[in-house]
Amino acid sequence: MSSDHKTFRTVIEPFTIKSVEPLRLTTKEERIGILEEAKHNLFKIKSQDVIIDLLTDSGTGAMSSEQWAAIMRGDESYAGSLSFQRFEAAVQDLMGFKNVIPTHQGRAAERILFSVMCKPGDVVPNNTHFDTTRANVEFQHAEARDLVINEGLDPQSRHPFKGNMDPEKLEETIKDVGVDRIPLCMLTITNNSGGGQPVSMGNVKAVKAVLDKYGIPLYFDAARFAENAYFIKLREPGYEEIPVKEIVREMMGYADGCTMSAKKDGMVNIGGFLCTNSDVLAQQEKDLLILTEGFPTYGGLAGRDLDAIAVGLTEVVQEDYLKYRLAEARYLGEHLAEIGYPIVQPPGGHAVYIDAKELLPHIPPLQYPGQSLSTAFFLEGGIRTVEIGSVMFGKIDEKTGVETPGHMELVRLALPRRTHTQSHIDYVVEVARELYDKRASLRGYKITKQPKFLRHFSAEFSPI
Ligand SMILES: *Cc1c(COP(=O)(O)O)cnc(C)c1O
Repeated sequence: MSSDHKTFRTVIEPFTIKSVEPLRLTTKEERIGILEEAKHNLFKIKSQDVIIDLLTDSGTGAMSSEQWAAIMRGDESYAGSLSFQRFEAAVQDLMGFKNVIPTHQGRAAERILFSVMCKPGDVVPNNTHFDTTRANVEFQHAEARDLVINEGLDPQSRHPFKGNMDPEKLEETIKDVGVDRIPLCMLTITNNSGGGQPVSMGNVKAVKAVLDKYGIPLYFDAARFAENAYFIKLREPGYEEIPVKEIVREMMGYADGCTMSAKKDGMVNIGGFLCTNSDVLAQQEKDLLILTEGFPTYGGLAGRDLDAIAVGLTEVVQEDYLKYRLAEARYLGEHLAEIGYPIVQPPGGHAVYIDAKELLPHIPPLQYPGQSLSTAFFLEGGIRTVEIGSVMFGKIDEKTGVETPGHMELVRLALPRRTHTQSHIDYVVEVARELYDKRASLRGYKITKQPKFLRHFSAEFSPI
């Protein structure tokens, strides 16, 4: 793995492996058939047909022995379980929010938050909305507006905090739209859809200062809060010596609440939560929770899941873990860049993003260059990645049927937590090298079938 800049030693995986899961090694011939069967949508492929699964880092990581031990401690009482108490204490200790509401995953927290806070015609600013966040805002007939800094839209910019929101764009939006129509502002840490890029503490403060002028609450989409905090430690002057846990606490101190997908920095396979400092909102949110998720002390999870999150939240802020985590992404990113891949620079925390628009200039955005590259990774090496471009974010005008492409055409190679060894990553680099030499022969796609919301999960494609 990349070497440590201080000691020049290899950053090793800070764990050993106690339980293994075999991989089935497919041939290219087999994969051609598998891809056709899946209508060229990688979400429709069975996991046993994938060799290295970099589709997502969401819920795909390995739990620690301490987490498995916590699973056995799980208290499955319907109300007031010990598991809930341990979960609530762990979240409050780390983040400091007053009300902690468990949900089965992040999007359930989003749905409840926006149902309670948004009305039709509202506008929700964010640095960049994640796909489920955008869909949940739009489901309330509100507008999800992305106000990331311009550097965040330029894959080659080396700005250290490309996830920052532009405070001037925010203030203009507030003046333009009117305070009454902005029920809350969100910041996604790290900015997943913008390349896994961090938000600086300085930017959190600047955004907060604008919002305070107008009395608008700030919420974090906190899925990768620990990775964000470690980037602050590495890159923001004044934080070099501050423990990550304290950085997290300071960050959260500027917010009124958060939504959290525990499938990311919760280090578990399922779970999430919603936090708020407002007792009034918390009550409304719990009322909705009971309707669809469950009683407020389990929120759609088992007691054992809550215990696993409680332990995961203590492990994710350990700095040896975070150092290894970021080194893995950097190692993959540096090697892909060396081959010649245009990647979003610098690599983010949980993934490496390839700029498919630049790599495949012969494929126009509405023939989905990202889709083409991600299916090619599968065919060449059984590697599953995900398109984050016009398949995911293209917008079809309901009246005219005209499609507008997304801002960027990216392919994400996401790294599940504590799951792959360095030789797995080296294999990915080898496949990428072979694919690079064939890039001019890749073809675009057309969509033959699609649903109205979140089409990338189930759309069908045919090669052009
Ligand atoms: C994963 C994710 C979500 C949604 O969480 P789920 O647990 O998948 O429902 C929201 N925001 C961000 C930034 C995410 O990465």
